[in-house]
Amino acid sequence: MRFILATGNRDKVREVNEILAGLPFEVVPMREAGFAGEIEEDGATFEENALIKARAVHAVTGGFVMADDSGLAVDALDGAPGIYSARFAGPDATYPEKIAKLWELLRGVPEEARTAQFVCAIAVVRPDGTSFTVRGTCEGRIASEMRGQGGFGYDPVFYLPERGRTTAELDNDEKHAISHRGRALRLMVERLSAEGLHP
Ligand code: IMP
Repeated sequence: MRFILATGNRDKVREVNEILAGLPFEVVPMREAGFAGEIEEDGATFEENALIKARAVHAVTGGFVMADDSGLAVDALDGAPGIYSARFAGPDATYPEKIAKLWELLRGVPEEARTAQFVCAIAVVRPDGTSFTVRGTCEGRIASEMRGQGGFGYDPVFYLPERGRTTAELDNDEKHAISHRGRALRLMVERLSAEGLHP
């Protein structure tokens, strides 16, 4: 089953491929599928933004399209950066710059109160234009130092108290077994199976 992935983020392409490895999916990044445009993500929720991306690509490529909209929701910041996780420190900020901005906003907030959630909404648009979304989450805490080399983005500061490690200290399979993206993609696969669209 061929799926076009509506993202320009290489880390997401890698993770989606790792999570779906061994399943009968061929995942084609949108640029390789002939989509060269830019997409304005102006939705109010992760689900809306995932659908905006999937629909924009589907309008050009047709076929099955999936999109991931994800981010970090910090309780002490009323859910920020949330849907703005990629750009809240400026459009060209690096991952370490985003982490520095997060620490700045959390200055004075004690470690136990730095609870946070990774959220991932996956939108699927079918060839006939119909669609669905699923959501996966992962609970953790924002650490005050960076640890680990794995993952990407906020992983070096996303601390899992029950494991005593950040998601960047897990190996890929361990991260995907518990991550927001792993959970959302497994829900997507269940849904497609229930529809008889994949074995
Ligand atoms: P999007 O492209 O608007 O969905 O932005 C998602 C942003 O959220 C990424 O650029 C990362 O900063 C962050 N993010 C999403 N998923 C993860 C993850 O698995 N680990 C670390 N950061 C993530």
